[in-house]
Amino acid sequence: MSARRAPASSPESEPFWEATRERRLVLQWCTICDEPVQFPRSFCPGCQRSSLEWRDAAGTGTVYAVTVEHKPEAMAVEEPYAIALVDLDEGARFMTNVIGCEPDDIRIGMAVRVTWEALEDGRNLPLFEPVVIGPVAQLREG
Ligand code: ZN
Repeated sequence: MSARRAPASSPESEPFWEATRERRLVLQWCTICDEPVQFPRSFCPGCQRSSLEWRDAAGTGTVYAVTVEHKPEAMAVEEPYAIALVDLDEGARFMTNVIGCEPDDIRIGMAVRVTWEALEDGRNLPLFEPVVIGPVAQLREG
């Protein structure tokens, strides 16, 4: 069980958080622009229309940027941890934590996939972990 505070949800982000109960990662899309919308909102920032829907995301992406935090205060974790910007294959960019490896081993362009951390209220927090192919991690060069 996570020691993290459960993230607050807004009316716009409610479908995102409801899907995490089933450990599904969903993205809001504009059906006119055919682009993912980040972050959840009522109108597409591209065309200003409300032609938005929720679609399942594959949950795979690559690390765009990473920083290692050694003095966490906002979150109830004690170990150094990595805050990363992950570009999902669908094109949306997530600020998240990458877990499952040493924070200092995380590289730009590394292939990652979603993994879930249970929250007390039944929702799940999407985090990312390296995609390991075979006995040795294959790092995708960005
Ligand atoms: Zn649009």
